[in-house]
Amino acid sequence: MNEPPRIGLGIDMHRFEPGRRCVLAGVEFETSVGPVGHSDGDAVLHAACDAVLGAAGLDDLGTLFSDRDPAHAGRDSADFCVEAMTLIAAKGLRVWSMDVVVETEQPKLKPHRAAMRERMAVLFGVDADRVNIKGKTGEKVDAVGRGEACRATVVALLIQAR
Ligand code: MG
Repeated sequence: MNEPPRIGLGIDMHRFEPGRRCVLAGVEFETSVGPVGHSDGDAVLHAACDAVLGAAGLDDLGTLFSDRDPAHAGRDSADFCVEAMTLIAAKGLRVWSMDVVVETEQPKLKPHRAAMRERMAVLFGVDADRVNIKGKTGEKVDAVGRGEACRATVVALLIQAR
């Protein structure tokens, strides 16, 4: 019997600090600030993993990969995606589509949106035309609007792998 698709939502926010490497959706940006995190601080991939894990009814990223575990210090968030994909595959699921909103004053996403899309498509095993990325600013409101942080929101649709 065909099961209906499953939807998941993930949200993540990271504070910016000067001199940090800035990687969003697995793509490196040239900026004066970057996200602070125990891993590489890639809020987009963290939100995407939570969306995928949530859709599959699995534990969230923070439970699976504790930010107190030294083994995850400075870790490439692409590793978390690989592990999340292994876990959903074990449940007979795969990602069908993703819709992503990234809120940040800087860096400007536009020049890198295509690269972000391609990278997420590879990481989550989806055609690039089923990964959408929208960049928004914070309109000078809250930490995002003041340029102190970036926030990512992702919805993912999962279907049966077979
Ligand atoms: Mg995070």
